[in-house]
Amino acid sequence: MNDQRTESKTQIEFLAPLAEVDPELAGLITDELRRQRQTVELIASENFASRAVLEAASSILTNKYAEGYPQARYYGGCEVVDEVESLAIERCKSLFGAEHVNVQPHSGSSANQAVYFADLALGDSVLAMKLDHGGHLSHGLKVNFSGRFYHFHNYGLDRETGRLDYDEIERQAKELRPKLIVAGASAYPRQIDFARFADIARGVGARLMVDMAHIAGLVAAGLHPDPVAPGDYVTTTTHKTLAGPRSGVIICKEQLAKGIDKAIFPGLQGGPLMHIIAAKAACFRLAGTDEFRDRQQQTIDNAARLAQCLQDGGINLVSGGTDNHLMLADLTNIGVTGIEAENRLEEVGITVNKNSVPYDDQPPTVTSGIRLGTPAVTTRGFREAEMEQVGEIILAALSPHATAAEIKLLRQKTSDLLAGFPLYPHL
Ligand SMILES: *Cc1c(COP(=O)(O)O)cnc(C)c1O
Repeated sequence: MNDQRTESKTQIEFLAPLAEVDPELAGLITDELRRQRQTVELIASENFASRAVLEAASSILTNKYAEGYPQARYYGGCEVVDEVESLAIERCKSLFGAEHVNVQPHSGSSANQAVYFADLALGDSVLAMKLDHGGHLSHGLKVNFSGRFYHFHNYGLDRETGRLDYDEIERQAKELRPKLIVAGASAYPRQIDFARFADIARGVGARLMVDMAHIAGLVAAGLHPDPVAPGDYVTTTTHKTLAGPRSGVIICKEQLAKGIDKAIFPGLQGGPLMHIIAAKAACFRLAGTDEFRDRQQQTIDNAARLAQCLQDGGINLVSGGTDNHLMLADLTNIGVTGIEAENRLEEVGITVNKNSVPYDDQPPTVTSGIRLGTPAVTTRGFREAEMEQVGEIILAALSPHATAAEIKLLRQKTSDLLAGFPLYPHL
């Protein structure tokens, strides 16, 4: 074999599309696109990234090593990616009114890990929300790194109101005197008073970390009380209401910046994902537009309408409703468990997740509730009228009397509804 032929064969493979090189994998991606198109996506932590974000995320920036930070790298050839990262940082700062931003965390959990790593010594005390009341794994679950390395104590929701009880949190903080207080949740349907959390933290000499993973889009749009001024640290994912790539960000006060940057690199991570940082830059630009703000308002309006429909149909919602993008349905009184409801809704083409409700008697693999959110369907174009149809389908599917024939009919209704809202028509 001569060298020239070998080289050109390599070149052909290098330039061939995925569908040719790996039809098996390409087929799976097509299957997933079809699934996303043909189901009503109500998982509260999901969204559809825009075409611009997808393009940046799949760009050639994936090729570049850039350990370090702009103008202080451990690799050559970083002049362009320096600009990309600086653009992401500046846009994020102006979007949230932040003093300092680190755009390198690979995920929300990595962002939280970096704050703990920067701020705490092993075994230090932290006060955070209970997982089964709406907190997150990285807020001290026993088998998570957070629960293994640090001493997490939990506050929960009030049994009567299903809401945070700030006086009780203050009492716990005074008793525990933690080094750090964590505010923020994965399944809390109400606004959180971050200014009150900051007062509580200041009163006991603790720092405040706000994890705004779920509500970052609402915050960017000015539709949720601001966590950035009161929080010493604010962490977030970028793929939930913010609608960016699957990733994370840390915002902090200037005097904490050095510690955070060192914790991310070289503390926890090696090279940053420059293609994902570029996608975050695109996401922050889009999140500053009027269209984005309107969409976040519609997300809240859609959640309110869906909540009303479900309640009118006899379903109990934790805290009696919602004022953000999600709601938590407690199905105890209708005699369906969370896992049963998740499966039943999947059969009619609606995707949700089972979720513990506060003071749940069922184990986390079963649960008594489901969490429903409107970010993804709102991005897709649903408004109040569509939410009413979705609500009716959910109520009918969860009815104990639903027959197989009715379920089939409901699946058809879902398909008909979705047909009016094409997803990624360019793909
Ligand atoms: C989703 C979420 C995270 C974690 O995000 P990953 O990117 O999945 O690691 C962290 N905190 C809260 C409150 C979340 O809801």
